[in-house]
Amino acid sequence: MRREAIAPCGMNCALCAVYQREKKNCPGCRADGAGKPGHCRNCAIKSCAMERTEGGRCEACPDFPCERVKRLDRRYQKQYNVSLLENLRTVQTEGMDAFLQKEGARWTCYACGERLCVHENTCPSCGRERK
Ligand code: SF4
Ligand code: SF4
Ligand SMILES: [Zn+2]
Repeated sequence: MRREAIAPCGMNCALCAVYQREKKNCPGCRADGAGKPGHCRNCAIKSCAMERTEGGRCEACPDFPCERVKRLDRRYQKQYNVSLLENLRTVQTEGMDAFLQKEGARWTCYACGERLCVHENTCPSCGRERK
């Protein structure tokens, strides 16, 4: 897991289906590339964090967590059972290295050892159910 893959909103882009796909993949929120979808290219949270914080991190913002970030978090919790706010709070309290270590353990398939995806209920490599 790489710190560059952690978006200002708390999304771990390394776990995104668009990042993981083989062709025309997205290089992540913090990079630019042809595969990056329009909604991530024009993200209000990223622009705001880049303007308001050093290094573009919502958890470092005095208004964290603002309504915009909470709204995105609610959507991710509902659709994918992942809390972006919880990610950022872990970074805030335990530091980025500890968070990346936890993410590595959490998102490794128990059956084949490959990387899981937040947008899929099954492992992209072996097809087993995500636990
Ligand atoms: S599509 Fe968006 S969420 Fe997915 S890797 Fe790219 S920037 Fe991150
Ligand atoms: S106000 Fe703060 S927490 Fe909200 S999007 Fe902007 S930088 Fe992130
Ligand atoms: Zn697997």
